[in-house]
Amino acid sequence: MNDLGTHSPLTHSPGRTHQQRLELLAQVAVRVGLNLSSGQELVMTAPLEAVDLARAIAAEAYRAGASLVTTLYSDDAATLARFRHAPDGSFDRATGWLFDGMAAAFKSGAARLAIAGDDPMLLSAQDPDKVARANRARSKAYLPALQLIAGFDINWTIVSAATPAWARSMFPDLAADAAVAKLWDAIFAASRIDTPDPVAAWKAHNANLATRTDFLNARRFAALHFQGPGTDLTVGLADGHEWVGGASTAKNGILCNPNIPTEEVFTTPHKLRVNGTARSTKPLSYQGTLIEDIAVRFQDGVIVEAHASKGENVLRQVLATDEGASRLGEVALVPASSPISASGLLFYSTLYDENAASHIALGQAYSKCFVGGDTMGEEELARRGANRSLIHIDWMIGSAAIDVDGIDADGASVPLMRKGEWV
Ligand code: ZN
Ligand code: ZN
Repeated sequence: MNDLGTHSPLTHSPGRTHQQRLELLAQVAVRVGLNLSSGQELVMTAPLEAVDLARAIAAEAYRAGASLVTTLYSDDAATLARFRHAPDGSFDRATGWLFDGMAAAFKSGAARLAIAGDDPMLLSAQDPDKVARANRARSKAYLPALQLIAGFDINWTIVSAATPAWARSMFPDLAADAAVAKLWDAIFAASRIDTPDPVAAWKAHNANLATRTDFLNARRFAALHFQGPGTDLTVGLADGHEWVGGASTAKNGILCNPNIPTEEVFTTPHKLRVNGTARSTKPLSYQGTLIEDIAVRFQDGVIVEAHASKGENVLRQVLATDEGASRLGEVALVPASSPISASGLLFYSTLYDENAASHIALGQAYSKCFVGGDTMGEEELARRGANRSLIHIDWMIGSAAIDVDGIDADGASVPLMRKGEWV
């Protein structure tokens, strides 16, 4: 386990400038999110509009001893130009060479940081077939890099930046500047930046989440049962599953926080032991499309019926991605009173919205969510019930109307959450 190293909060009182809060977010990203080691390389991706935060993070990374920071910027306008003007064959192509290079960097010890902030509605007016083909080509090409991230070979983290397009989706009635300012306020609040010492606040939060995971790991429930409006779902847990939340130790030995913010504790469902119905409690923003009021029925782990009031076509395409796309790779518990839920905002971003409610994820499981999973091969993980897929998509099934019970191997049930709150 690595020490977080020295850090110097800029002030201890509210009334910080935007630049000071940005630098504190950079400190949290580098010292808590990544826990970057001295001498380690960093590969960062960021939307063009997040350049201020990306530069603050690069500076903080070098202060922490980074040997080299490389930032790859994405440009929503150029992406849109592709969908408007590129020849048809373009939509089966992806930058495999770039992702192979990223994978090579991770194999040689680099850490990974992503700044999220893309326009959630960017592709909503584009041909769904082209969007699906482009996503599929990208997912396939990204796999060598994704496996090193999802398999936790390296320390990695995701933080967010307020961009004009994202802010517009959230606050369509506000002027552009006011919308961006309001989104930054929400990001800073949820990321615990508006506390006297954000790095210390994250240490305390990580300790709280560890209390939950320790309890769940000691109880070793065989299944969870979710009950509420439209939801009556039994999620069998994988054999030898482990509950994880907050900070985790990557295979390179570095303790990091993969998501800033994070409020969830989560583990691996058994890919064959999920039965019943589930209804989404928040819209799912998936690569430019909003999927609303998802209602599915599971039988022996697989979704056999799926509906949505909006975006049903996209949902069906997602489920058809591969064999594992209609099975679960994650189940997570989040109290309905979490700070992100309390904000009352819909962020149209999984990183935020998944921390507002209990959720399940379609697709790839995390080997980290198994006792000793770091050293298990694919076959061993599959034998224990771990699902495999090109996708991993979280969607919310929790709310203040949902009860959750833990089910023991002998069928006895123990109340875990009532009306969305921990018992
Ligand atoms: Zn999750
Ligand atoms: Zn997830």
